[in-house]
Amino acid sequence: MSEPDSPELLRFIIDRISVGLFIVDSEMNVVLWNRFMEINSQVTSDQIVGKNLFDAFPILPRRWLEKKIKSVFMIKGFSFVSWEQRPHLFEFPHNRPITGGLEFMYQDLVLMPVKDESGEVEKVCIALHDVTDAGYYQSELTRANDELEKLSRIDGLTQLANRRHWEDRLSEEFSRSQRYDETLSLILFDLDKFKNINDTYGHVAGDTILKIVSSNVKDVLRESDVAGRYGGEEFGIILPNTGIDGAMVVGEKLRTLVEETKVVFEGADIPFAISGGAVELNGSHKSYEDFISNADEALYYSKENGRNQFNSFPVPT
Ligand code: GH3
Ligand code: MG
Ligand code: MG
Repeated sequence: MSEPDSPELLRFIIDRISVGLFIVDSEMNVVLWNRFMEINSQVTSDQIVGKNLFDAFPILPRRWLEKKIKSVFMIKGFSFVSWEQRPHLFEFPHNRPITGGLEFMYQDLVLMPVKDESGEVEKVCIALHDVTDAGYYQSELTRANDELEKLSRIDGLTQLANRRHWEDRLSEEFSRSQRYDETLSLILFDLDKFKNINDTYGHVAGDTILKIVSSNVKDVLRESDVAGRYGGEEFGIILPNTGIDGAMVVGEKLRTLVEETKVVFEGADIPFAISGGAVELNGSHKSYEDFISNADEALYYSKENGRNQFNSFPVPT
């Protein structure tokens, strides 16, 4: 039986362990290269021991790794690198069945000083852990969370903000504009006689029109504007740093764009239009609900006054 510290047993352990292990001296020459490194790099210990690490692997991030290794010589202590900082050092294959865009094995690194009798660091041992599974699940989880977050904000049919998210944004913009005394306008609009469209052409045609109008909305808005689906066929647009004149320009632009958009159903044009109301923030608005209610009043006036038009609050009496 070998003693635990016999060179044979140590070599056996070094080669059996499922961790990459290699040692370099201060000249970056390789002193030890275990079996894990051999298998994954396709470079044998015989081929690399005694050679410069960076000559053997020109693809390695030399400046970065040399700095890391030198810091271990200097501080005489351990150093760690997580896959989250740098997903991989070596371009090793991974053995996950589903690649899902994953190119190389994710690697955690531990750099350890190897000291001589006097306590000086002679060499640096680098342990390379395959953390592909953990990294993969972490990345997938982050991606799924981002997707869920997005789904919770977006209306499925129109791809605009859903009501909850839109109202949250309105509430934020309302408070912010009040606090900093900035201009803010709001548009509400609603499709005209939409019930007739559904009754005449069916719900699928109705849904198609809702999608088309939403894409018209995206075409007229600026980056900072926030459009949302407020109800079935009612929409809201938040216009930061915009006064009532600007809001009416946007509303009119949208109204004409919708009017000019053609949707053909079984050989005939489906006529559709929108009516809207706009309001600019002023001192009389105590809450964003007051603000909505004024825009709604202007929208109601547009409906009463013949539809296919935009009016601003306060409406003529
Ligand atoms: P007005 O000009 O006064 O707005 O008339 P309207 O018929 O549009 O008004 P009303 O509010 O009475 O009807 C809205 C209709 O919108 C009723 C409903 O069937 C339809 N609607 C609401 N949500 C959707 C939807 O997601 N898809 C479809 N296809 N129709 C919807
Ligand atoms: Mg309607
Ligand atoms: Mg309606």
